[in-house]
Amino acid sequence: MKIVDVLVIGAGPSGTIAAALIRKAGYSVLIVEKMQFPRFVIGESLLPRCMEALEEADLLNAVTAQGFQQKFGAKFVRDETIFDINFSHCHTKDSKTWTWQVPRADFDKTLADECERKGIEVLYKTEVTAITINPDESSVTTIKYEDGGTETVAARFIVDGSGYGRVIPKLFGLEKDSNLPPRQTLFTHFVDLKRSTVAREPNRITIFVFNETTWVWCIPFSNGNTSLGFVGFPEFFAGLEGTAEEKMRSLVARHPKLKDRFQNAEMKFEPKTLQSWSATTDKFFGHGYVLTGNVTEFLDPMFSSGVTLASVSAQKASALVLKKLKGEAVDWQTEYMDPCMKGVNVFKTFVMGWYNGDLHTIFFAEQKKDEMVKQISSVLAGYVWDDTNPFVSQHEKYVTSLANFLRSRDSGKAAAINNVRI
Ligand SMILES: Cc1cc2nc3c(=O)[nH]c(=O)nc-3n(C[C@H](O)[C@H](O)[C@H](O)COP(=O)(O)OP(=O)(O)OC[C@H]3O[C@@H](n4cnc5c(N)ncnc54)[C@H](O)[C@@H]3O)c2cc1C
Repeated sequence: MKIVDVLVIGAGPSGTIAAALIRKAGYSVLIVEKMQFPRFVIGESLLPRCMEALEEADLLNAVTAQGFQQKFGAKFVRDETIFDINFSHCHTKDSKTWTWQVPRADFDKTLADECERKGIEVLYKTEVTAITINPDESSVTTIKYEDGGTETVAARFIVDGSGYGRVIPKLFGLEKDSNLPPRQTLFTHFVDLKRSTVAREPNRITIFVFNETTWVWCIPFSNGNTSLGFVGFPEFFAGLEGTAEEKMRSLVARHPKLKDRFQNAEMKFEPKTLQSWSATTDKFFGHGYVLTGNVTEFLDPMFSSGVTLASVSAQKASALVLKKLKGEAVDWQTEYMDPCMKGVNVFKTFVMGWYNGDLHTIFFAEQKKDEMVKQISSVLAGYVWDDTNPFVSQHEKYVTSLANFLRSRDSGKAAAINNVRI
């Protein structure tokens, strides 16, 4: 039997950041990871807010040393109209002004290697198969090695950062359907030889509007490859014919901004499909455990919020796990779940606003006040807990009212709606 203070399930960003923060306080941590790293996972465009988590966990220098593509903002493109977000012009005081675009296999391996360097044992190709929680919140977890052999781990507390694996929600029956409609993606990495001639900068994620319900991410990496992914309703993809590569090439050929750059470009792997990724659970904590990252709630890739919400939840969870280990009381609902949901709900409003057209109206409006753009930039940089920003404190009202105002203004019927000033 292995004996540790904290067992962390999963070596993605939420697991490694939580593990590093707990280890930093002097406690023993074991990470159990199902795959062998480096392994592919999607989620390549980060937000500035996650830099604060990496910094606090002393993981920032290791990532910096990798020379990943720096990201200074985001560009939203509909036909010839561009809405450019620059993270240096954010409403939130002292916010980070940049982040990275990363092939996740390399990024996640860097974080996991750094955890090992800090004295955290990482068991790869090892799965959690059963967990028994004791009355005092300690636990005994059964893990299964690649060769089929099993072992038990005694821990004082468990952090579940198993992402799409959703280990504890599945084991304890906590799964809940998301109320977001199912969407699908088709994506690959292209060798982007025409990047410097066709696209002016690699230091942004570009989101292209493809049609009313379909959009495209374009995420250049420093290794010369670019991640390109189409996101839309499953019906849209069902209407495409051919192999995955043929579908990808036909989609690229249909978009004037992508055609020249990618139509004949080499793909690094056969395009992959993912679908129905939104997931949630009733409670992000329980007797003896806390859930972090994607296990808590995953919305949609639209605003690249996943790794940032994973990092911030790991930051918040580990601070509370440390309190717990010191014997202090923790109110997980008010100290953890409510703050996590606050950030999730702001992004949810933005995701829904994108798909119902409100954010198209706002982003592509001809005239926008600087302060409003800064407030939106703060949200898109991941500062979704800053109540001085009305797009955080009154997110639903602001997005809806502003979109209605702009629609009426741009159709010549100017009116102040719900007292929103723009
Ligand atoms: C189409 C799409 C595009 C996206 N684009 C972006 C983006 O641009 N930017 C962004 O920030 N986010 C994006 N995301 C979201 C991003 O993928 C996740 O939010 C992020 O990876 C969550 O990190 P995590 O640490 O919670 O989980 P993960 O990164 O998924 O890590 C979890 C780890 O747990 C391991 N595991 C699973 N089961 C077990 C088990 N039984 N035992 C042990 N280990 C286990 C897994 O192997 C994995 O390594 C996107 C998501 C989708 C679906």
